[in-house]
Amino acid sequence: MRLPAQAEGTAALPADPEDRIGRFARIWSRAIFPVTATSLNRQELEDRLLPLAHVLTEALRTRPFDALPAQQVGAALVGMHCTDPEVLSGTLGVVESYLVLYCAADAPEDPEDCRARCARLQHALAAGFARALRERTLSEQEAIARSALTARTDAQAALHASEERFRAVFEGAAIGIGIADLQGNVLEVNEALLRMFGGMEGHVRGRNVAEWSHPEDTPNVWNMYEELVRGEREHYRVEKPYYRHDGTVLWTNLTVSLLRDAEGVPQYQLALMEDTTERRLLNLRLRYEATHDALTGLPNRTLFFERLEKALTAKDGTRFGLCYLDLDGFKAVNDSLGHSAGDRLLVEVADRLQTCATAAGEMVARLGGDEFVALTTGPDTEEEVTDLAVRILTALSAPIRLEGRELTVRGSIGIVEGPAGERTPAEVLRSADITMYRAKGAGGNRFEIADAEADARAITRHGLTTALPAALERGEFFIEYQPLVHLHDGSVHGAEALVRWSHPQYGVLGPDRFIPLAERTGLIVPLGRWVLEESVRQARNWQHEHGGRAAGGPLRINVNLSPTQLAHPGLVADTVKVLESSGLEPGALCLEVTESALIGADDELLEPLRRLADLGVDIALDDFGTGYSNLANLRRLPVSVLKLDRSFTQGMQHLPADPVDVKIVEGIVALAHSLELAVTVEGVETGAQAAQLRELGCDTAQGWYYARPGSPDRIHALSLADAVTPVVPAGR
Ligand code: C2E
Ligand code: CA
Ligand code: CA
Repeated sequence: MRLPAQAEGTAALPADPEDRIGRFARIWSRAIFPVTATSLNRQELEDRLLPLAHVLTEALRTRPFDALPAQQVGAALVGMHCTDPEVLSGTLGVVESYLVLYCAADAPEDPEDCRARCARLQHALAAGFARALRERTLSEQEAIARSALTARTDAQAALHASEERFRAVFEGAAIGIGIADLQGNVLEVNEALLRMFGGMEGHVRGRNVAEWSHPEDTPNVWNMYEELVRGEREHYRVEKPYYRHDGTVLWTNLTVSLLRDAEGVPQYQLALMEDTTERRLLNLRLRYEATHDALTGLPNRTLFFERLEKALTAKDGTRFGLCYLDLDGFKAVNDSLGHSAGDRLLVEVADRLQTCATAAGEMVARLGGDEFVALTTGPDTEEEVTDLAVRILTALSAPIRLEGRELTVRGSIGIVEGPAGERTPAEVLRSADITMYRAKGAGGNRFEIADAEADARAITRHGLTTALPAALERGEFFIEYQPLVHLHDGSVHGAEALVRWSHPQYGVLGPDRFIPLAERTGLIVPLGRWVLEESVRQARNWQHEHGGRAAGGPLRINVNLSPTQLAHPGLVADTVKVLESSGLEPGALCLEVTESALIGADDELLEPLRRLADLGVDIALDDFGTGYSNLANLRRLPVSVLKLDRSFTQGMQHLPADPVDVKIVEGIVALAHSLELAVTVEGVETGAQAAQLRELGCDTAQGWYYARPGSPDRIHALSLADAVTPVVPAGR
């Protein structure tokens, strides 16, 4: 259905709210008038729609929100005999495009919220429409059943006695009635039946029933017919399609009864027909809407799962192949160009995908967001599915013009291929999803093919993620401490707390295995709090046990903070509480934040760190040099320590040291010192490195050369011994 010309909608808005509602009713009436079969003229229809427009306006504005009145509007349309499916889609179109524009309250309010309410009103309206139509159909059927009964007794009576009374009923009935002899020759039809068949008498009367077969007839239809005319059955009821003389199809609910004479000998057959074409169309439409994506018109998730299920339960050794596509960087398009541009991009992508899967047994669907799937079935999917993936990536590669600029869209595809009958749709999709992420992880713009081993790894990851919360409760985490050493004299400065997970099944897991998962699920907040509590308590213990001082001053503790923790509103309060309850002075705590977490950080994000720094807590910029932060930016950050990433010191493991690395580190140290930042180097594994870094002016160091991360009491040995000699030999 077309919406009224755009000019209608965007013409200057009337100032008076009443006029605006009136304008809305007019647009509405114009949209649906061509498809209503009522006796109203356009103006009358508009007059009838106006009160409904008021109901929608009220519903849109009233708080708390209630969508129920929109259901009544849907029902009212049916009540006005506006029952064509086009009426519903036309109405929804108008509500979608114009209700908020013309009927929202004058007072400014949240437009997102307003649109959401408008969407819910549309759903309620459609539901009300469908329900009313169903109810109307039911009561129609009841009337039909009643008149069928009367017609039948009357017909029998008529055949026996009063021809005239029969005629009256026959002609006046609202449903189609026809009488044929037992050979199938049509003897009589009433007006209603003629109308259903398109009004041409010659095409109905005098024909034989047997000519009205239709390819969609169930075999049952004609079996029951035979039984009836042989006198073995009194009646039957079926849903049956007919061809009209113009080739269009008429769908009916058909009831056929056998008429016997006074002696009980079969004489005629009486057919009662109800035209269900319109209802069927509506059902088809509703089914279409339930199985297709509104934005792109592609089959949606529901339909895709139906097809996949069918493909996976197919017999006779067929195979299936599935490409699971996720666009690369779609979020960035959405965020920078806006949602409507994002939508247009998706529509364009959908169109291109559709051209890739046109063979029999192939389909494309949109699963939601920027996720699409292409499915292929048949005997040779092993080759076909990779061809399909190549076609998709190629189709995406041509730039898309959007908002006057050319965008290049890329995607990552996970392929799953295999014989039917082995896996469930959910298993297939999970494998496809995992594989797609593998393609993304490998840089995107490519496809990867599912393999069981990679799946298993990902499923382990999934298992770890779900086990994390319980693991924290069960106390499966523990902390190892790695000493930080003053480079000039080798005395212990403090230690970095590094968390580990003692997994009941997989043994000890390093943080790289679970910190990213904890971060994604938010568990990092309670986990990080636990690490902070535990390690601050530990630092306080060291101080107690050793008179509070190591050779180079009070022993300090470094704790890693993840980006999520950084943004968590409880960070400052939690930290202060932990420090207070342990009694550790703030200056003995250093929080390590990665450089990448602070790139582009705004003042709001930096504020908690500033407050902590003001309290005396040290902030270290961890993994420095791995991000791309602007060095000039360092001044803005509330940091007091740079932790130089291991990659810089790797080139100094053996002599002669890599001269470029030496130069870079020299430069960074000079810059850091000019900004009054201390420099810590990570990953010191050899004495040569240590010597070189000391020479370059680095302040503290950490690495296997001094000690591997270990249990908290190992640090005693190191600090007491004022260790310069390695506790653990260098290298692994
Ligand atoms: P990081 O902060 O850069 O920690 C240093 C990592 O380097 C540690 O790995 C440590 O064991 C390792 N390392 C130390 N010395 C050497 C050396 O000489 N050579 C080599 N090759 N490696 C060395 P680990 O323990 O696996 O920690 C990995 C990362 O996990 C840490 O990197 C940190 O970002 C994160 N992490 C650890 N504990 C926590 C925590 O409690 N909270 C948060 N948010 N992250 C943590
Ligand atoms: Ca760290
Ligand atoms: Ca680091």
